[in-house]
Amino acid sequence: MKPSHIEHIGIAVANLEESISYYENILGLECYAVEEVKDQKVRTAFFRLGDTKIELLESTDPDGPIGKFIEKKGPGVHHLAFAYRDVGEALKLAESKGVQLIDKEPRKGAEGLRIGFLHPKSTQGVLTEFCGE
Ligand code: ZN
Repeated sequence: MKPSHIEHIGIAVANLEESISYYENILGLECYAVEEVKDQKVRTAFFRLGDTKIELLESTDPDGPIGKFIEKKGPGVHHLAFAYRDVGEALKLAESKGVQLIDKEPRKGAEGLRIGFLHPKSTQGVLTEFCGE
């Protein structure tokens, strides 16, 4: 099973509005959606670049996953999301090969996509997300 492309790159930011302004005014991208994902305790902003999106993540709670990440490492690249046609199958296959999963089953992420995270201990240090319809 092979991913079709990098669905998005997740970037932890300290201030969503300031970061949107950087991506729009310096890089020339256009933010097409801002969305709060309550169970992840984040506000997100999306930019499209070819098949790949950039997902900015601002914490809405210091105890949430992005709040803790920024506290430990500061703002920066947080995760890579690979596009799979069947996220559930892709997660099962990874687990069968000994990968530690954060999500055993796909759950609903931003933009209504099905997502699941692999544990960075099992993914060469890069927090990895599988993402699909
Ligand atoms: Zn993501």
